[in-house]
Amino acid sequence: MPQYKAPIRDFQFLLQDYLKIEQYKSVPGFADCGPELMTPVLDEAAKLCEEVLFPLNQSGDKQGLRYDNGRVIMPDGFKEAYDTYVNGGWPSFTCDPEYGGQGLPEVLNMPLMEMVCSSNLSFGLTPGLSHGAYNAIMLHANDELKKKYAPKIVSGHWSGVMCLTEPQAGTDLGLIRTKAEANTDGSYALTGGKIFISSGEHELTENIIHLVLARLPGAPAGIKGISLFISPKFLVDDNGKIGERNKIRCEGVEHKMGLHASPTCVMQYDGATAWLVGEPHKGMRAMFTMMNAARLYVGVQGLGVAEIAYQNALAYARDRVQMRAVTGAKFPDKPADPIIVHADVRRMLLTMRAFCEGGRALALEMALMNDLAHRHPDAEMREQADDFVQLITPITKSYLTDGGFDMANLAVQVHGGYGYIKEYGVEQYVRDARITMIYEGTNSIQALDLVGRKLPYRTGRYLRAFFHPVDAFITKHKDNAEMQEFIKPLSKHVEYLQKGTIWLAMNGLSNPDDAAGGAVEYQKLFAHVLLAYIWARQAAIAQEKLKASGDKEFFEAKITTARFYMQKILPSTISLLSSLTAGSKSMMQAHL
Ligand SMILES: Cc1cc2nc3c(=O)[nH]c(=O)nc-3n(C[C@H](O)[C@H](O)[C@H](O)COP(=O)(O)OP(=O)(O)OC[C@H]3O[C@@H](n4cnc5c(N)ncnc54)[C@H](O)[C@@H]3O)c2cc1C
Repeated sequence: MPQYKAPIRDFQFLLQDYLKIEQYKSVPGFADCGPELMTPVLDEAAKLCEEVLFPLNQSGDKQGLRYDNGRVIMPDGFKEAYDTYVNGGWPSFTCDPEYGGQGLPEVLNMPLMEMVCSSNLSFGLTPGLSHGAYNAIMLHANDELKKKYAPKIVSGHWSGVMCLTEPQAGTDLGLIRTKAEANTDGSYALTGGKIFISSGEHELTENIIHLVLARLPGAPAGIKGISLFISPKFLVDDNGKIGERNKIRCEGVEHKMGLHASPTCVMQYDGATAWLVGEPHKGMRAMFTMMNAARLYVGVQGLGVAEIAYQNALAYARDRVQMRAVTGAKFPDKPADPIIVHADVRRMLLTMRAFCEGGRALALEMALMNDLAHRHPDAEMREQADDFVQLITPITKSYLTDGGFDMANLAVQVHGGYGYIKEYGVEQYVRDARITMIYEGTNSIQALDLVGRKLPYRTGRYLRAFFHPVDAFITKHKDNAEMQEFIKPLSKHVEYLQKGTIWLAMNGLSNPDDAAGGAVEYQKLFAHVLLAYIWARQAAIAQEKLKASGDKEFFEAKITTARFYMQKILPSTISLLSSLTAGSKSMMQAHL
């Protein structure tokens, strides 16, 4: 049976020592972000995830969903778990107090997001998407729509869903055909079909608010002719009371590789009543403004799965005895040594640990930067934080989701044949994690965004948001003897990243296939160097803390993991740079 324990100590370290969030007390929402708030929030979130959501993960996967003539019946226990989540006030955590929210920063919510994704990713999709819908409404809807829909989404009594994909329009949303025609009362009638809509139908909430991309009559072709609409499952009167059923129907649920307890719905809109959100034809622009937060959230899905995969691989490796250590028996009283003594098992476990702890630092830092980009009172600070977010978002989404899948796979490998058997739980993580590399923009599309939009932006302005602080960090520690084992590899690999960036700048314009063909390699190269910077900073803090005789075991482990990262993972940048700079000719000339 799998197990899960929330990594509270690491969250505390990252929030307090790594990000030092108490320094932002003057930023709206951060005033109470000290240990007095952080500790109970982390403890309560852990309790919810360990005791309520995690026990339903395997049963939800096994039982799956039932579709019954337009209705979707969730697995046993999910409704009760959702009610517990709502009664705990979790949906409102970061929302605007004017609409019933608690106004707390995203960085404090991020641990909960990760814990939910570790303990039950299928469950997490419904509140996760609701939060995306809430953001879309708050950023783009008029006051009337906000007042009508936001408070109930904030409380969690209604949920929200994002309806973009159609059979012929996935990555290319310019191909959307769903129509919106004006009614006489200012509303619109939506007609068309959407596929793959997560949580499109269920009975966890009293109402489901659909945010739908559709085309107005005479709209320009392609992406510039898409508008955003809001359309509730049940119509809502002016007093906020639920009325008659709207003309929205779930035609079925997909049978999927993973996420068996998350309804992925085929939705049909037959003249469904809807209201325009924002300006006509500006629907894609509206989507773009909330994309960074949504992509970070999907990244955290990968991270969450990696964490639970790691915990179970570690427990198994301590327990399972097979063969003797090559240097002689370590546990002579046992019939064989536990597999944790074997170098290759240790390589897999440390790869997972480095990914989870490094990825967690990245996710929390991105959440903080997102907060600062929106909330900081100083415009210059907002801009700096936003530059970082723009550049690092595609890297975060792809790194954390590629890694989520890879780490789940490693957990299966550590389990040997038992990993392939359902009872042990880890094969579910491989299946569940796989989709995170595809939705919210495939990881190839993230790479095109990085190379095509983010690098060239204002002659490399976003890039400076990364290279300047890294240079400053290297300069600060260049004479620190203890830090050399981290600073030297970091400096060397920053140079490789610079080489790759210059190569793209020089070749990408003259041959766009070189840029597009090398984008994924460049994205991975960037991620490895970014994580080296993150690990070097964690190591520097750990060294300081050890001098102050802090939590010895914890901080020594940080230094060990940082060392492993520098020596065993970071060198892969060399092969990435080599294949990036080989160009695209071999791919583009091949007959496929
Ligand atoms: C479980 C699940 C849940 C989902 N939830 C939602 C949801 O809630 N709402 C919603 O609207 N959608 C949802 N989706 C849809 C999801 O966002 C799409 O599947 C995704 O955007 C990819 O679109 P596609 O499947 O049509 O693939 P395609 O766009 O057909 O892509 C196929 C392949 O071609 C590649 N490709 C395409 N164009 C390019 C290019 N220019 N350069 C390089 N490579 C390219 C892609 O990277 C991919 O590898 C969900 C899907 C699943 C499976």
